[in-house]
Amino acid sequence: MLGNDFLTRFLKEQLSIWELAKSNYEKLQFVEEKEFVFGEIRILAQYNPEREKSTIAKVEKTTEKMCILCENNLPKGQIKYEIAENFFLLVNPFPIFSEHFTIAHKNHIDQNIDLFFKDFLEISRNLPENYFIFYNGAKSGASIPGHLHFQIGRKDELPIFANKIANQNQFYEQKTINRHFVISNSDKEKTKQQFVNLLKSEKFNQNGEMINVLAFFEENYFKIIVFLRKKHRPEFYYLSDENQMLVSPAAIDLAGKIIFPRKVDFEKLSKEKIGQIFTEVLL
Ligand SMILES: [Zn+2]
Repeated sequence: MLGNDFLTRFLKEQLSIWELAKSNYEKLQFVEEKEFVFGEIRILAQYNPEREKSTIAKVEKTTEKMCILCENNLPKGQIKYEIAENFFLLVNPFPIFSEHFTIAHKNHIDQNIDLFFKDFLEISRNLPENYFIFYNGAKSGASIPGHLHFQIGRKDELPIFANKIANQNQFYEQKTINRHFVISNSDKEKTKQQFVNLLKSEKFNQNGEMINVLAFFEENYFKIIVFLRKKHRPEFYYLSDENQMLVSPAAIDLAGKIIFPRKVDFEKLSKEKIGQIFTEVLL
């Protein structure tokens, strides 16, 4: 278990020696956000120009030589911490949260959670309160699909965590505008089995490339939120006229904070457009 203020201290240490990251965390304090309400669900839109590279990232996998998560290519000044047997903790230099981290596998292996779900759960159990771990499938918003990685953010900065998940063994579908599946279980093996069953279920039957997953550990329960995808980006992403909107939904967007790197898209956003994004990309 990481100490309560471990992540805060790690971030502070990193920002004291890495100018690019420091500057991006400072800019985050000034990003614009606006709120849309769908019944009991709040959806925030965030205008964040620093995220453009991630939004337009290609699905093609980069080689080891070009990969910024490979140990030998880490930017100058970036520090790493061994958070689990095969994973390093890094500060994400393009933050969405006031504390935003990347967890990279030590080796350059494909972004697919299937063989690493237990590691994902184990890391979630070791996080301090108020943090969650998340994963974006290679075809569902991961900006570095060639290198296995997870991320960590703050629960109090993401709307989905305002809705409590009960401490009891259960599995259910949440039929909100951002429909998703919830697994809550005190047993690690059973949690994994329910996750595997969901991916193999008849109407989905995919591997870990077409999903987004968020997880945290609370009062002895693993709590997992899974988004099943049918598409990487909404149709209007690909338009070349004034109807184009640059948005590339991943775990954070689907969980209630949609990131727009262009002001023009942020400004013309409507409830209808948000509905369209969810309908198109979610199964
Ligand atoms: Zn790599």
